[in-house]
Amino acid sequence: QRIVFSGIQPTGSPHLGNFLGALDNWAKLQQKDSVTYYSVVDLHAITLPQDPKVLRQSKHDMAAALLACGVDPKQSALFEQSKVRGHSELAWIFNCITPVGWLGRMTQWKSKIEKSHTSHAQALLETSTSAGTASLKMGLFDYPVLQAADILIYKATHVPIGDDQIQHLELCRDIATLFNNNTKSKYFTKPEAISPPSTKRIMSLRDPSAKMSKSDPSDFSRINLFDEPKVIQQKISKAMTDGHKGISFDTENRPGVSNLINIYAAVTNKSVDDALKDMNGLHNSQQLKQAVSDAVISRIHPIQSEYVKLQADPSYVQQVLKEGAAKAQVTADETMEQVYKLMGLD
Ligand code: ATP
Ligand code: MG
Repeated sequence: QRIVFSGIQPTGSPHLGNFLGALDNWAKLQQKDSVTYYSVVDLHAITLPQDPKVLRQSKHDMAAALLACGVDPKQSALFEQSKVRGHSELAWIFNCITPVGWLGRMTQWKSKIEKSHTSHAQALLETSTSAGTASLKMGLFDYPVLQAADILIYKATHVPIGDDQIQHLELCRDIATLFNNNTKSKYFTKPEAISPPSTKRIMSLRDPSAKMSKSDPSDFSRINLFDEPKVIQQKISKAMTDGHKGISFDTENRPGVSNLINIYAAVTNKSVDDALKDMNGLHNSQQLKQAVSDAVISRIHPIQSEYVKLQADPSYVQQVLKEGAAKAQVTADETMEQVYKLMGLD
């Protein structure tokens, strides 16, 4: 039996990269012989400073977004991470066995600090300038351990993730092995990644060498799933391209144009080759941008209208989250009972 876990941070509005690289797949993974847990991971969100009011609202909006993207509460447990206490409890157990050196090798906390400069300047600037990590917050550094707990507490066998998360899943697998060795058990099994095809890795519209991100300070770097069609068109028309003639796919020399072609391929569910065939009649990046923007707008239109409906009924979304947490809690409690036993904490 397949057990699937995945999470998304309520750190802003979901963007096209989240949708194509993750959420679209979440919906597809809800199959008869699978158990699916999908979480709005608020404990991860607070590894960077958050305004409580904004966070509360973002959590709700993210849950509505997930439902709009096709997460079905009848099939999946959809819940807020902080409402199932086992996540933090298991993370603590893992903290006690995971070497600091393993976390030092992770790259994401470093890039998060760099990116955060402009938005959370005061709090974080010191971090990267002071020699080393004196003001680096423990939580940001430790984030992958909590992620391992998120996954292992449900004994997930499969984790759909974008490739920015591969390194963290590797760590999760290592932690599972470490726990088993330490407790002389075979309690945890190592989860597998489900990675989307490369066309579904979406880069920033402003800087095609960086991935599209919720936490990028520039809103023009991303297409939010709930941007109005006019805004989407505007953002794509301002996307960074190059001075080369014509349209060609060349991620090395033409990263901006290639990202746009990728976006087109991803939203139309085509290979890059087939996408390029569609573009046969187009001669310049202006025309390419028009085609991409039309394709994006029509692909996400149904999700947008579903989202509007869900936002009109906030109590429904809250009810779904409550029931999802109760469902997840049952499994989480079972795991924690076994873990405590294995550790002698029972
Ligand atoms: P943040 O900047 O706050 O980390 P994020 O955009 O990276 O936000 P996450 O909540 O960290 O989003 O990730 C949610 C899921 O979306 C993960 O599975 C991640 O791999 C995937 N994902 C994130 N960015 C992209 C992208 N640009 N292309 C494809 N998949 C992505
Ligand atoms: Mg991220």
